[in-house]
Amino acid sequence: MSEYSFTTNSADETIALGGELAKLLPPPKLIILRGDLGAGKTTLVKGIAAALGVANSDEVTSPTFTLVHEYGSGAARLYHLDLYRLETERELLTLGLEEMEDSGALMLVEWGEKFPSIAARADGEIIFERTGEHSRTVTLHLTK
Ligand code: ADP
Ligand code: MG
Repeated sequence: MSEYSFTTNSADETIALGGELAKLLPPPKLIILRGDLGAGKTTLVKGIAAALGVANSDEVTSPTFTLVHEYGSGAARLYHLDLYRLETERELLTLGLEEMEDSGALMLVEWGEKFPSIAARADGEIIFERTGEHSRTVTLHLTK
């Protein structure tokens, strides 16, 4: 169990933080990103994807409607999920989460805490708190 806490004061700082946190998240890993809408979850993923070399930060967009975006391949694969629109464990079954996990990828899951089956499998969480218009605290908890 380890915990790391940071403050950022702009979206660019959160992207840069993603680059640092990527070093603490060697795959395979399933990490829940927890925080309100607009807290900065997708912004952090931009920085992680760029640091992994699987996408430029401006290519990473919210998987709001498609639920999953996949970046990279092979050992450097990132799955970014946003489960805000899903309601039931049953709906999760159509996503193929197990295949993603078996691929050995890094999985970053917004709203994963809604689903007990995901919470039980997660290696940790990144918690976002909006402390001002442009300020956020970002805390990584690694539980495994
Ligand atoms: P989420 O995925 O949590 O819903 P997004 O990352 O999509 O949130 O959006 C965060 C919004 O907040 C963006 O419009 C971003 O420009 C803005 N923002 C302002 N300050 C910050 C900050 N310190 N970190 C991240 N985003 C910030
Ligand atoms: Mg988002």
